[in-house]
Amino acid sequence: MNNNPDVHLTFLGAAGTVTGSKHLLQTPGLNILVDCGLFQGIKPLREMNWDQFSFPPQAVNFIILTHAHLDHCGYLPVLVKQGFKGSIIMTPPTAELAKLILLDSANLQEEDAKHAKENGYSKHENPLPLYTQEDVHHTLGHFQYQNDEEWIVLSSDIRFRFRRNGHILGSCFVEMDCYGRRIVFSGDLGRQNSVLFPPPLEPDRADFLLIESTYGNRLHSKTPAIDQLADVINECMNRDGNLLIPSFAVGRAQELMVLIHELKKSNRIPNVPVYLDTPMGEEATTILEHFPQWHKLDPKTCNAIFAEVKMVKKLDDTFNLIKNKERKIVIAASGMLTGGRVLHYIKEYVNHDRNTILLVGYQAEGTRGRALHEGTHELKMHGKYFDVRAQVRELDTLSGHADQSELIKWVGAIRNKPERIFIVHGEPDAAYAFSNKIKHVFGYNTLIPSLRQDVVLFDSSKPFSGNTSGN
Ligand SMILES: [Zn+2]
Repeated sequence: MNNNPDVHLTFLGAAGTVTGSKHLLQTPGLNILVDCGLFQGIKPLREMNWDQFSFPPQAVNFIILTHAHLDHCGYLPVLVKQGFKGSIIMTPPTAELAKLILLDSANLQEEDAKHAKENGYSKHENPLPLYTQEDVHHTLGHFQYQNDEEWIVLSSDIRFRFRRNGHILGSCFVEMDCYGRRIVFSGDLGRQNSVLFPPPLEPDRADFLLIESTYGNRLHSKTPAIDQLADVINECMNRDGNLLIPSFAVGRAQELMVLIHELKKSNRIPNVPVYLDTPMGEEATTILEHFPQWHKLDPKTCNAIFAEVKMVKKLDDTFNLIKNKERKIVIAASGMLTGGRVLHYIKEYVNHDRNTILLVGYQAEGTRGRALHEGTHELKMHGKYFDVRAQVRELDTLSGHADQSELIKWVGAIRNKPERIFIVHGEPDAAYAFSNKIKHVFGYNTLIPSLRQDVVLFDSSKPFSGNTSGN
């Protein structure tokens, strides 16, 4: 409790970048953190995960999670370790996915620390993981599940609800009523035409809006994803190549499986084997089956699709599969080639022009995926350089993020004139372009916050007159 009547918002991540989402809302009664993500990508960003959290974690009362991607939930165990005592509120599918993703993240960090110590390539004598699987188990004890569309009362002055936004399983935007004002947090906004999820629901009122801008300066291709994918697969299979699709284990991987299933069913591609190689892949896929009411697939289709994809679980199997010379499609994590099993495939496949590497998601600054997107002629992996001779193709229509026109449509659903729109979760060019577009189309007041910027939203002791002018 503090005596300051101001409600203010501090941008502790996803400001000037697409990762590390953390938005801290300080009110006279409660401190609420919306999302608690890891910084990913270039080293200076990743190093920020080791900084002391700039607000006392024990003074945060609630954390609200929009969805389970690591750049939105991956910092939770650190905050719990540093003293957070409150509840972490999320939808039931988000809870299942977050558990899986956090345990995988802890496992990878433990392995990396061990590997760095054994091989002596860390500047620290005793390299440590940011958190361990045990830390994750402590974090799970704070999880609280809430269905979407139900108002959750946090205090006499604050309530919120989750509303589906079509980005991944369980993902939602947050509508919060706070001392008479409506604050909306978009989370990551999905597409209008996803094969897995219905289009995002829309807010009809927002006095303050935080909106993502990953593709704030881009329009996705108009050619349907399935047609683009058919071309890429056929081209590669005609060369007797291997098609490698780096993908997040959660979301994009399942969407790809659905499209490949449809292409096979209609005989538009040859009946080549399809593998999903990520330790999380099978579970992520099973979680989809646990929540049939959260996606568009019926259980029968679900079964048929997942039965024909071979799951690769053990690392030994990965190496066996790489030795196997028959043409195939492999979906492997991580999606931006920052680590994981996909690197073993790349090392083998990238040198041959009969193979194709297909990028299907956003490739953040500083990642190998971004380097490929920009046409690099070599890639560094595990301390060595590899020439890029494989075909590199992209399929942006499979992105889980709305493009500029979809973002503008979503903002256009708001019927009042927002006092301020904060553009977050975008690299600078995308955020500026989107901010200008909003000003041009709606004439709304926007701000692109910088990292750790603190903005006073309003004085809660003053009655709110409301702003009902339309756009
Ligand atoms: Zn996301």
